[in-house]
Amino acid sequence: MSSSPATDPATDPGADPSADPSAAPGADPAAAGGPPAVRPRTAVLGRGEVPWDAPVAAADDLGLSRGDGVFETLLVRGGNPARVVGLQAHLERLERSAAALELPAPDRAAWGALARELAAGVPAGAEATLRLTLTRGAPGAGPTGLAALRPLPAETLRARERGVRVVALARGTSAHLHAEAPWLLGGAKTLSYAVHTAALREAARRGADDALFTSTEGLVLEGPTATVLWWAGGRLLTTPAGPSGILEGTTQRAVFAAAGAEGLPTGVEEVAVPGLLAAEAVWLASSVRGAVEVTHLDGTALARRPELTRRLRGWALA
Ligand code: PLP
Repeated sequence: MSSSPATDPATDPGADPSADPSAAPGADPAAAGGPPAVRPRTAVLGRGEVPWDAPVAAADDLGLSRGDGVFETLLVRGGNPARVVGLQAHLERLERSAAALELPAPDRAAWGALARELAAGVPAGAEATLRLTLTRGAPGAGPTGLAALRPLPAETLRARERGVRVVALARGTSAHLHAEAPWLLGGAKTLSYAVHTAALREAARRGADDALFTSTEGLVLEGPTATVLWWAGGRLLTTPAGPSGILEGTTQRAVFAAAGAEGLPTGVEEVAVPGLLAAEAVWLASSVRGAVEVTHLDGTALARRPELTRRLRGWALA
């Protein structure tokens, strides 16, 4: 049982990449038999790449002081050329999130070019996380756009290999709240993730690696940084977005598209915790980890489908 939270800096804005020794410039995991080193890189929209530790935002940037901004976290697979997985889907969601916050529409071509510029140096055999952040900026100064490339945290590989222990945590909101309350920014990937990272710390306190949120009706919503998927009755299922306010996952969408293309039925259904306990397999899906098996839910060992996990992982990381 892990005693540390499943902090995945790629999907967890509260995690500190510098806590991972491999994130330090000059660290070379390849020397220790690991994948080739990934050099941390930082870029500013409109300026291009800057030194990785250069100042990039004003102290009163509203993204910092109020969480007033949006972000995306992507997986980069190294090679020649390196590939930013699902770049267009992430840029589309960045646009939707920005529109929800009434931020100026992101310039998709400029963001795409910035993402590709940073990803270009990731060597074959390595993976990296790429964070795109758009804030409202300092008062009177206009939006700030940032991109940060960092090595893959070791925790990500562990979660892919071993799966994750998950606890269900109350979110304190109805699964239908967002239908009548657009100001709550349901479905937007905003910077306001303090509750999400607190949930991961609570999971760690309970001896788990990750969490899933439940609604006041007891329905499963999503993980703090992942979409919930499960297999039951011969179908691959996920929870409804829209009124629940959960984020529509790019990984879930890619996995469902691939599953559908291979003839596996998919569906969207409400589920409560007992439904997941009875499922034939459960996964958490997100861009950097891919689809990771949930091995335990609230301390109960879940059924597992290793062959299906292998296929889901392939689809998620393709
Ligand atoms: N739900 C939440 C709350 C998330 O933060 C994330 C990813 O960070 C996801 C779901 C999964 O989204 P994606 O598959 O696009 O990474």
